[in-house]
Amino acid sequence: MNQTLQAGALYVVATPIGNLGDLSSRAIEILKSADLILAEDTRSFSRLASHYLIETKVKSCFEHNETRRIDELNQRLSDGESIALVSEAGTPCISDPGYRITLACREAGFEVLSVPGPCAAIAALSIAGFPSDRFLFLGFLPQKSGKRRSSLEEALAIRATLVMYESPYRILKVLTLLEELIPKGRIFIGREMTKMHEESLIGSPGEIREELENRPKIKGEFVLLIHPDREALAPE
Ligand code: SAM
Repeated sequence: MNQTLQAGALYVVATPIGNLGDLSSRAIEILKSADLILAEDTRSFSRLASHYLIETKVKSCFEHNETRRIDELNQRLSDGESIALVSEAGTPCISDPGYRITLACREAGFEVLSVPGPCAAIAALSIAGFPSDRFLFLGFLPQKSGKRRSSLEEALAIRATLVMYESPYRILKVLTLLEELIPKGRIFIGREMTKMHEESLIGSPGEIREELENRPKIKGEFVLLIHPDREALAPE
C-alpha cells in the first residue's frame, strides 16, 4: 500500500492521444505510486511506462474482461489499495472501456477520482473554431448504412455542434452522406492530432470529401465535427 494516494480509490487517468509529452505530472505521479494499473492495452501502455519509468504492476482490463475484473478490483480497494485505470489512449470511458468498472466501484461505495487530460473529441473542439456552448458527442456512428443515416439525421435535428470519431475506412462514406444531408454544412476534421502528421481540414462536406478522395491513401485517426449551418458560424 502506498502513502501518496488515497487508499481504496480508483483513479481514472487520461493518457496521451499521440504526443507522449501530454501525460500530466499528476498522472505520472499517480501511475508511479498506484498499487496496480488496469490498462485496456498492456502493450501500448508499456511504451508509456518505459518512457516515464513507471514500474507499477499492470493488468489488462478491456471490453471483454472488464466485468470479470470487478470482484478482484473491489477486493483490492477494500484492502486499501489505490488502483489506476487507463485506456489505450486519451480519457477512459470516452468511446473506450471503463464505464462498467467505474460504475461498479461507485456502487460499492469506493471513491472514483479523475486525473483529467487528453481527449481527442475535446482537443478537436478546442481548435476547430466551432461553437462549443452546445455540442453533442456521438462517438463512433453505427457501421450499418441504414443505422448510420438514421443516427446522423436524428443528431442533425439538434441545434448543437456534432462531434464524432471515425475510422479512415469509413470517413468517405460519412462525408458522402453529409454532402447529401447538409450540403452547405461546415465540417472540421482533426487528423492525427498531436502527432507528427497532424492536420486540420475545414470546409463543406463535398470539399472535404474531394480533398480526401484525391489522396492515394487515407490514413490516421480522425475526429469529425459538424456544424449544420455555415451562416451561423459567422461571429456576431
Ligand atoms: N478515449 C479516447 C479519447 O479520449 O479521445 C478515444 C478512444 S477511441 C477508441 C479512438 C478514436 O479517437 C480514434 O478512432 C479517432 O477517431 C479518435 N482519436 C484518437 N486519437 C486521435 C488523434 N490523435 N487525432 C485524431 N483523432 C484521434
